[in-house]
Amino acid sequence: MEGLSSPKEIIRLSKSCIGVEEKNAVMGVLEREFLGMGKETHMFETALTDYFGRPAVCVANGTSGLQLALQACGIGAGDEVLVQSCTYIASFQAISATGAKPIACDIDMSTLTLDWMDAERRLTNKTKAIMPVHYGGCAGRLDEIYKFAKKYGLRVIEDAAHAFGTIYKDRRIGSFGDVVCFSFDGIKNITSGEGGCVVSNDLKVVERIKDLRLLGVAKDTDSRFSGRRTWEFNVKTQGWRYHMSNIMAAIGNEQLKKFPKFAALRQSLALRYDEIFSNNNSVICRSVNYTEVVPHIYSLRIVGLKSRSALQKKLLKFGIETGFHYQPNHTHDLYFDEKILPLPATDVVSREILTLPLHADLTEVDVDFVGEVLKRVI
Ligand SMILES: *Cc1c(COP(=O)(O)O)cnc(C)c1O
Repeated sequence: MEGLSSPKEIIRLSKSCIGVEEKNAVMGVLEREFLGMGKETHMFETALTDYFGRPAVCVANGTSGLQLALQACGIGAGDEVLVQSCTYIASFQAISATGAKPIACDIDMSTLTLDWMDAERRLTNKTKAIMPVHYGGCAGRLDEIYKFAKKYGLRVIEDAAHAFGTIYKDRRIGSFGDVVCFSFDGIKNITSGEGGCVVSNDLKVVERIKDLRLLGVAKDTDSRFSGRRTWEFNVKTQGWRYHMSNIMAAIGNEQLKKFPKFAALRQSLALRYDEIFSNNNSVICRSVNYTEVVPHIYSLRIVGLKSRSALQKKLLKFGIETGFHYQPNHTHDLYFDEKILPLPATDVVSREILTLPLHADLTEVDVDFVGEVLKRVI
């Protein structure tokens, strides 16, 4: 294609951004030869507690955080949890891991976040909780979700895996709300290798999660943070090995310090994408305010798209990696149900959605190139 030569390197969809600080921190842990949950994890947990202004608990990954949050709220077999179908499989698996049933809900087309009016149609006497997913970092109509939850006595477990750093109505996501879960996997807004955290004001839930992440051994967290182990105990509930290691936390501590820089980069790149497509009729950007939202992914709809995989192949010829967030979860054999009410917005979005490269090492030149190529090939 004239005037558009492929870059020498692949423009990656997403990646970890790791510097010498993270490498040194990990080496420090390796040299001290205390790799499990100890000093570094304690530091990271304390730093996150300060960041959110309320208790945060570190866990092995975002999925385990969601599962423990549900379990700590007493949700399990026989219960139903409302969740958008358009999310990562992790949200659904975390719910079904507790024995509860995920109830697929539709989304608001403009933000791809949970549509509570649709969720209302799917309420039963088994509904115990709602799990809004902050798609791409955007929390949608979160205050309306809380009103809805209050009306029906539901717990709210926020899947904020995409939304670390996002400001919602002048408040940081995670600093308010019932139980809020973050992911620090390799490509999220910050990473600890794998990892995640759960934040809540509900001290019973916080204490339960602390025990549940260490196989249900009561107060084992305090022992480990002071370098001890609990040798004799009486376990009363099913727990898991879902704690965070010092190696992971060492990375997380350094990433947290760099986060303001990462956030500003992600925001400015997303704004640039928005600008590039602002006058294009074939492309619909989500309506997201990137002065408040810190985007984990940048996805948009290609109106009337016939074949996403064909488009992705064309883009890859120019060295541009793209993604699909997400295949609707109610289409998986495990979650499919013939009686499910239609999900019209989810259906359209799943045909037309495409995710463009976004990470903190991407440049404006890369974004302009991706934009130009996409406009030409659609
Ligand atoms: C990444 C992610 C999770 C799970 O986090 P992991 O740390 O990968 O287990 C959950 N929900 C959504 C929407 C995610 O993108």
